[in-house]
Amino acid sequence: MTVLGDDAGSGDTPAAGRPRHAAPSPSGSYVPPPMQGGDEPVTTRIPRIDYDGPAGYQSGSPGSLAEPGARPLADPLLAGAEPAPPSFGESRAERQPGPAGRHAVDRPSALRVVWIYPDLLSTYGDRGNLIMLERRARLRGIGVEPIEVNSDQPVPQQGDIYLLGGGEDLPQVLAARRLRAGGGLTAAVSRGAVVFAVCAGYQLIGSVFGGAQGEPVEGLSLLDISSGRGDRRGVGEIVAEVDPALGIDRLTGFENHQGVTVVGPGARPLARVTLGTGNGNGTEGAYAGRILGTYLHGPALVRNPGLADLLLTWVAGTLPPLPDAQEAWTRQLRAERLAAVSA
Ligand code: GLN
Repeated sequence: MTVLGDDAGSGDTPAAGRPRHAAPSPSGSYVPPPMQGGDEPVTTRIPRIDYDGPAGYQSGSPGSLAEPGARPLADPLLAGAEPAPPSFGESRAERQPGPAGRHAVDRPSALRVVWIYPDLLSTYGDRGNLIMLERRARLRGIGVEPIEVNSDQPVPQQGDIYLLGGGEDLPQVLAARRLRAGGGLTAAVSRGAVVFAVCAGYQLIGSVFGGAQGEPVEGLSLLDISSGRGDRRGVGEIVAEVDPALGIDRLTGFENHQGVTVVGPGARPLARVTLGTGNGNGTEGAYAGRILGTYLHGPALVRNPGLADLLLTWVAGTLPPLPDAQEAWTRQLRAERLAAVSA
């Protein structure tokens, strides 16, 4: 029996093992912690706290999130005082569009990259975004703690980067409902975390999106966008020129969505579409402060390493370029995808 709407393809991501990474550069300014768990596949992982970051990272009472039906976790990431309830209006007003510079946590020994709800939101290889961030950070000597959070688990509040993927209509509604009820992502955003959200994930961090029958569904209001359902699906390759303020190469990706999105005054369009649909009005994606959403799958950060590095710089500051030898596959992939649509 299928319970899914007829959108977004099969909605499944091929199981991807964790890539082997080059040894962290000893010359990097970060001291990566020893990897936990070696090369086993990425699974839900609640890391030891070994930040020497600000107070609040290491102590406190556990369990500040009460996600309905969630499995209780002995989760040190949940330690710390209950965050003040976020004020959406305030946080949006404070969050000016544009790169926001360095994360409040300077020189973390490992970046915590939290992948939200891979069981609901992971179409078209969105796991690649996690793999790519991890790889590009490690090649600069920055350790990464990947943390997968399924929809029956609370979202930890102390991550550095949060990833949301695409999804079919009903899983998208369910994800929005759970994230709103849990509050972990909203709390993380209010303390300055980076969010990278794709397609269904992009729509649900806005104020409203179209549900399976087109009905309005309330989003998380973390980014000033609103989405509804368009007349037809946007399916296929997409190319878009990025807002020059962000200083990165044009985007290449794959899209499959019925949603159309309007970017409000509290955010800026990420890019201008030269091929494909994007937001549905000639623009593609949106960003404000450290929150960035896009319709691009493919997965987006694999096809657009400049975008991956942009997210990393928002957390870790300026990064050195990678050696040519480490960029060969990425460049080849980009060249192939762009050539395929320029013919
Ligand atoms: N269900 C949403 C839509 O069709 C998002 C699809 C997706 O994430 N690929 O607009």
